[in-house]
Amino acid sequence: MNAGDKAITAAPWPRRATRQVDVAGVAIGGGAPIVVQSMTNTDTADVIGTAVQVAELARAGSELVRLTVNNAAAAKAVPEIREHLARMNLEVPLVGDFHYNGHTLLGEHPACAEALAKFRINPGNVGAGAQRDSRFAAIVEIACRYDKPVRIGVNWGSLDQSVLARIMDDNAGRAAPRGAGEVMREALVASALESARKAEEYGLGANRMILSAKVSSVQDLIAVYRDLAERCDYPLHLGLTEAGIGSKGIVASTAALAVLLQEGIGDTVRVSLTPEPGGRRSQEVVVAQEILQTMGLRAFTPMVTACPGCGRTTSTFFQELAAEVQRFVRDNMPRWREAHDGVENLTLAVMGCVVNGPGESKHANIGISLPGTGESPAAPVFEDGEKTVTLRGAGIAEEFKAIIERYVARRYPRKGAVR
Ligand code: SF4
Repeated sequence: MNAGDKAITAAPWPRRATRQVDVAGVAIGGGAPIVVQSMTNTDTADVIGTAVQVAELARAGSELVRLTVNNAAAAKAVPEIREHLARMNLEVPLVGDFHYNGHTLLGEHPACAEALAKFRINPGNVGAGAQRDSRFAAIVEIACRYDKPVRIGVNWGSLDQSVLARIMDDNAGRAAPRGAGEVMREALVASALESARKAEEYGLGANRMILSAKVSSVQDLIAVYRDLAERCDYPLHLGLTEAGIGSKGIVASTAALAVLLQEGIGDTVRVSLTPEPGGRRSQEVVVAQEILQTMGLRAFTPMVTACPGCGRTTSTFFQELAAEVQRFVRDNMPRWREAHDGVENLTLAVMGCVVNGPGESKHANIGISLPGTGESPAAPVFEDGEKTVTLRGAGIAEEFKAIIERYVARRYPRKGAVR
């Protein structure tokens, strides 16, 4: 093994045993790699705008993309979006998000049902009483007819009120009633499990269902998913709902997901970030990938290790180079992925001075140690632990990127390629 070879082959801790659900060729659960998914925020009826955003999310690495199907125009648009994606050579499975009128839309738009790879139903937003049961049964019947898996997605903000009321009544009769938070969490889990049981009664196979029970508080999410994981073997979709904007959303999602993933809980993830004004929707995909990759669960793209910089760093050049290398890697990854097997395991280091620079650089596949204050203006480059060249002058960034490009071509040849 080379000095920088940190290839991720398996999770270092056991994953929870679950059934496996096939979503148009993407395996979820049953030991399959944890799947990254995302959701569009365009008007689904805008076929071109939605297809463009799905493409952005898929190219960023989203393995499933969900879109809202909220009215007839959206339902009609779904097969057209699928066709546009096919013309762009994109086969990413589409998931339809249904609330209130899913039974009607799926019934009246068979091409929509056909074009989707999975339906998401929120039991709290299907209806009430007998009406709820008949609508829920209708959606499940359509899923069975078209052989589509279903995610039963319970949400804190739209909890099935009948389940909550029943659990509150039961709680009131207990000798030692539970607190309000515990009752709410139990209602979430019960709603998901009861809906899954009903779906099975209506004919949906147990290996055609994925469950989620999302809340916006980190501690509640952890408690809910631990309980859900104890009580069923369906694959679980993890995500902190309404995580927020910017660093708050990223930190909250990471804190919640990391604890659960560390315990082997979670088969597919979505990071629900509110995009910054003018920001890219695909940031949620990047964050989800980085959570999985930094935890050692999957590898998606080469990782750049960079020191934080300090008083020994001479200028902003060090920060600029770290950012440029990260950008270079992300920009080139779609091309590299096509031509170089295993390139996602590449590790890079950009370090600011001699204190930790050479050491950290030797631990990466390729590392560069820039000169700190008072050091000679030279930047040694290390490849697989050995110093190969020293860069100087204004062309350091370009030369370093060329070294990365050559290393990728040499180290990660395409399987079956004649060398
Ligand atoms: S490697 Fe050097 S520049 Fe970077 S944080 Fe450490 S001492 Fe500071």
